[in-house]
This record gives sequence, structure tokens and C-alpha cells, in this order.
Amino acid sequence: MLFSLFFAALLSAATFAFSLPAQPAAHAPLSYTAYPLNDRPIVVIDAGHGGLDLGARFRHPFCEEKRMTLTCALLAKKYLNQLGYKVILTRSTDVFVSLPRRVHIANQSRCTLFVSLHFNSSSNADANGVEIFYCEKEKEDRRAKSSRKLAQSILGDLLQKTKAKSRGVKKENFFVIRESRVPAVLVEGGFITNPYERNLLKQRQYLDKIARGVAAGVDKYFKG
Ligand SMILES: [Zn+2]
Repeated sequence: MLFSLFFAALLSAATFAFSLPAQPAAHAPLSYTAYPLNDRPIVVIDAGHGGLDLGARFRHPFCEEKRMTLTCALLAKKYLNQLGYKVILTRSTDVFVSLPRRVHIANQSRCTLFVSLHFNSSSNADANGVEIFYCEKEKEDRRAKSSRKLAQSILGDLLQKTKAKSRGVKKENFFVIRESRVPAVLVEGGFITNPYERNLLKQRQYLDKIARGVAAGVDKYFKG
């Protein structure tokens, strides 16, 4: 009996291993760029919210910003690693991380970029699309110029991958992008209050597209 149970478990594990869906062509791995091992740029990916801080949420059907940002950050890390970048995550599990702590993680590392991931909500259910924020502390601020360039680069690739509506690149004083010492952007990847977009955002496949867009946009920024 024990033996047959063991055998059945083995068989179902094997079936599972062989029944994993093949990667669709549109989701083929990003090309690998060989930076010298000690010279790989470090990118900080910041999954917004976490722990007690749920971020934007929608009850029916259940949908939480903190979960979507984490999924997206982990996927973006994977794709950036494939492209040859080192990645530091401000959180890799469902924990609360304060805003100053997030900035501290970026500023005490030797990172070259900071990308914060969020999802939007609005009292207007029609509001939808992607927008990316950067901060300009003063006119002709060099960091702001680089941040804007990074925002434009990520927006272009995000739109290409997701076919979402562009709400553009905007200036804002959000703490994490204001206090980071390196070029920094905050990505709002879509509205959980819009029924159509919420349905997409609940799918891992769609978050994967956003993650690929972020990775490709960061890569273009470095090479542009
Ligand atoms: Zn948020």
C-alpha cells in the first residue's frame, strides 16, 4: 500500500513536470547582455507597500496592490538578471518596509537606478492606463533629467508589451523618488478600480508583461 502510494505520487509529479505549458513565443526570454561580472550595473526594484500596508485594493473580486507589486518586482528581477544587471529588491516577501528604509536601501547600495512599482486606484472607474512619475527638485537638475529619460524609456516598453493606454510621464514629489540619490521613477502600472484593467492585473501573465516592459526599458536607458 505504502509502495503504491509512493509510486502514484511519483507518477503524478512526473506528469506535472511534463505537463507544464510551453512558453508562448511572445514570452521568449529577453536577450542576454554580457556585462563583465564585476561591472554589472545595480538596479533597485521597489515593490510598493507590503505587510499591513495593503496599498490600493478591491474587494470583489479580491485584488491587492501589495501582492501585484511583489509579483511584478520578482519577475522584473528575473528579467533584469537575464539581461546582465544586478538587482536589489527593497522587499522580496509580504513585509512592511517604511519609505525611509526603502530609500536607505537604495542610497547605501552602489545602485545606479531606482524603480518603484505601484498600481493605481481612482474614484472614477473609467480611469485606466499606465503613468510614470519622476521628481524634479529644482530646474535643470541632472538627476531629474536622467529620471525623465528613464521614465520615458520604461513607458515606451511597457506600452509596447501591455498595449495599455499611456497617461504619460509626470512630475511628482513622492518620497521614494524625491529622496533617492540616483535617477528614480515610480511606475503606476494600471488601475485596479477599472473593471477591464483589474481583470488583466489579476493575471500573472499580464504582470509578467509589465515586468518585461520595466526590464526592457531599463536596458534601453543604459544603452540609449
Ligand atoms: Zn501604491
